[in-house]
Amino acid sequence: MPIKVLAPEVVSKIAAGEVVERPASVVKELIENSLDAGATQITVEAQGGGVELIKVSDNGTGIPASELELAFHRYATSKIGNLDDLEKISSLGFRGEALPSIAAVAEVEISTQTSSEPLGSYMHLRNGEVIRKESRARPQGTTVTVRRLFRYFPARLKFLKSSNTENSHIANLVSQYALAFPEVKFSLVLDKRHSLHTTGNGDLREVVSKIYGSELAQKMLKAEQNDGLVKVSGLISPPSLARSNRNYLSFFVNRRWVHSPLLSRATEEAYRGLLMDGQHPIAVINVSLPAQELDVNIHPAKAQIKFCHEQTVFSSVQKAIEEALARTPIASSKAVSFSVSSGQGQSPRMIMDNEPAFVVARLPTMELPVLRVLGQVVNTYIIAEGPDGLYLIDQHAAHERILYDRILAQWAQKAVEVQGLLQPITIEFSPREEETLKASKEFLAEFGFAIEPFGDRSYLIRTIPALMARANIIEIITALLDSLASKESLNPWEEKIAQSLACHGAIRAGQQLSNEEMRELIKQLEQTKQPRACPHGRPTMIHLSSHQLEKEFGRIG
Ligand code: ADP
Ligand code: MG
Repeated sequence: MPIKVLAPEVVSKIAAGEVVERPASVVKELIENSLDAGATQITVEAQGGGVELIKVSDNGTGIPASELELAFHRYATSKIGNLDDLEKISSLGFRGEALPSIAAVAEVEISTQTSSEPLGSYMHLRNGEVIRKESRARPQGTTVTVRRLFRYFPARLKFLKSSNTENSHIANLVSQYALAFPEVKFSLVLDKRHSLHTTGNGDLREVVSKIYGSELAQKMLKAEQNDGLVKVSGLISPPSLARSNRNYLSFFVNRRWVHSPLLSRATEEAYRGLLMDGQHPIAVINVSLPAQELDVNIHPAKAQIKFCHEQTVFSSVQKAIEEALARTPIASSKAVSFSVSSGQGQSPRMIMDNEPAFVVARLPTMELPVLRVLGQVVNTYIIAEGPDGLYLIDQHAAHERILYDRILAQWAQKAVEVQGLLQPITIEFSPREEETLKASKEFLAEFGFAIEPFGDRSYLIRTIPALMARANIIEIITALLDSLASKESLNPWEEKIAQSLACHGAIRAGQQLSNEEMRELIKQLEQTKQPRACPHGRPTMIHLSSHQLEKEFGRIG
């Protein structure tokens, strides 16, 4: 084909595709417009994953009737006027692309009213063309309704996920803006269900509690730092509240929600040594800096940014978090949470003189001293040195204890971290297993398992507890059902589930571990309530005191 310039409608569709990738992108652009218009109340409604309907209403400035059509022209904006303005962008929007892009891929209605005009205006666009325009009264503000998104773009529609997934993207997006603007009252209604409502009273901790739950919100630590150029403020989790993915990291730059590997790294650097491998903090951080220090004009979606002084921003964020962590007693003294736990059947016992040194099985439950890892024997036991001799730690039992405590703690806080499976796992149950499953489906759901019937006795596993992400899921579920059906143990069901998950999710004996892995394991073990016994009550470690060693070697009598 010879080279030729593309027709304007083709260009507009290509450009629209960059702005509107999925329904949540439409929500993003509309919310940004509302915020730029100074709205203090924003209501978002979506149906069918946003493909059927997206409606965003605000009480912002509104658009004058004479400018309404212009707002739908490409590169028409009220936010910047010249090249200089591009160097110091203070609004969320500036490219003048959102409204025309949305109108290019969906049917749009807009009604708007300013404070200075007696009547507001209404406009209906289909295929980017105005098909109706009239005066209509309404309270000050703007409502944009988007219907049949991507109806004429089968390729795009095909790539969208289920409406639940698209809804969850929308929910996440609204949550992020609610976190960035605690003084704005946000409401989100998904498929006619109320899913988020913030009060707009300006309290970030209150917004965090609406999104992540009040327990977590209470425990979050305040991070602040101001070095003149860069201001950092927000809330971060104490190390005890880590998550197994980065979805809980929210970064805003001048209150724009951004994806910033630099800010993620600065945050994780501050937690270095405090979290186990694969664990990540929860953080809501806003970085404010002069608009000239920043380039947001990198991609049409405006979620990427470039800092002029990356290193300064990096260290400000790292410092803000490190200081917050250092101020908290939880981070600086891991011992506080378990130093007073009472023994569960493991009474302290004196070591008798005539007892062979290697059967010092029962130990008191109390905090562990600091242990230094020396190595691993038969790929099963970790050898460590403490202030008073040698410790041999059973890697499986130790990991079981760690997982058990975490699983139960997450369950008790109603905050079980769930991992969705990209590819659901199909599993066929025996009739007995199926009955147990039916009887205990709700219990399993509380622990993060979403299991759906899939014909006959087949089932689809869609989500699992995130802590089990690396384990063999079929084996875990079968063992779980077995344990729930067993009449032998009288433990409450949640303990049965936690025990079974811990047992099957834990590192096996015979698995070689790196020094780093062993150190992490011991560090985590130190933080459990009963570091010296696994959930079944077997010891996690054997301690050979210096005194015993000396005796065994005949150094003392
Ligand atoms: P941009 O936000 O980059 O300027 P948009 O296409 O999103 O481009 O919007 C075009 C213009 O329409 C904006 O510059 C603004 O003047 C006006 N506008 C859009 N949405 C609203 C709203 N909710 N309230 C007031 N004005 C709006
Ligand atoms: Mg905009």
